Amino acid sequence: MPLFFLAPDAVRGDTVTITGPLVRHIGGALRHQIGDRLAVADADGERCLIELTAVGSAAIHAVIRRRLGPAPEPAVHLTLAQAVLKSPNIDLVFQKATELGVQRVVPLMTRRTVVRLKRERESRQLARWSAIVLEAAQQSERGRVPHVDPPKGLPGYLAEKGDANEARLLLWEDESTLGLHDYLNANPSPGRATLLVGPEGGFDADEVRAARAAGFVAVSLGDAVLRAETAAPAALAILQYAWGGLGRRPTQRVT
Ligand code: SAH
Repeated sequence: MPLFFLAPDAVRGDTVTITGPLVRHIGGALRHQIGDRLAVADADGERCLIELTAVGSAAIHAVIRRRLGPAPEPAVHLTLAQAVLKSPNIDLVFQKATELGVQRVVPLMTRRTVVRLKRERESRQLARWSAIVLEAAQQSERGRVPHVDPPKGLPGYLAEKGDANEARLLLWEDESTLGLHDYLNANPSPGRATLLVGPEGGFDADEVRAARAAGFVAVSLGDAVLRAETAAPAALAILQYAWGGLGRRPTQRVT
């Protein structure tokens, strides 16, 4: 059973009012009824067990039966800045990145990005990606839903003022001096980190230079050139093993 995410104003004291798409999902698709208990997380990532008291077509009402504390989240705030890939690969990357604990997803248009997003398609894409990460966060019992930025060009993204203390890693298959393994051995766990990953055709030399100038450290994942949709999940799994909870025993299951 997944952990459902409540809208910011859903909780008033001990009562919960669910509106929006979640109503159709819980009352319709999953056929939950009065008396059923569900695990939910509020906008602050606090989890509770609720009992349904009314199931309507526009709203579901419930009372809080037990407060379960904050959902465990990875110790490091991870951003995935990923060049947009052909569908459905990009959807899969964002889904897997969410399961692997990223907090922010930045879809990037780079020189060799094959997919061209038109303005009107952009907002539809963003809504779709937001739905994908929401569902993945529910499924994997994350405490937070990652934020999906609107798609942006790489130069614009690199010009954004980032957090000076964040670790910035660029995955580059032609990096010949530094492996991710060496990097992780030489650097302590950061509070925040961003992983920059290229499109099917890779980054060009200018883009690598620009990323370096913006504070990114290029690292290799090894001899194998991974497909674009494999690179981010593989690297995120390594980072979460080194810095987060991946590979440890779970703290507390609620569902
Ligand atoms: N340059 C190749 C492959 C690009 S792979 C080509 O022209 O086809 C797509 C992306 O995956 C790259 O931009 C890089 O970010 C990442 N990647 C794949 N294999 C990698 C490796 N061994 N080390 C670091 N990054 C890698």
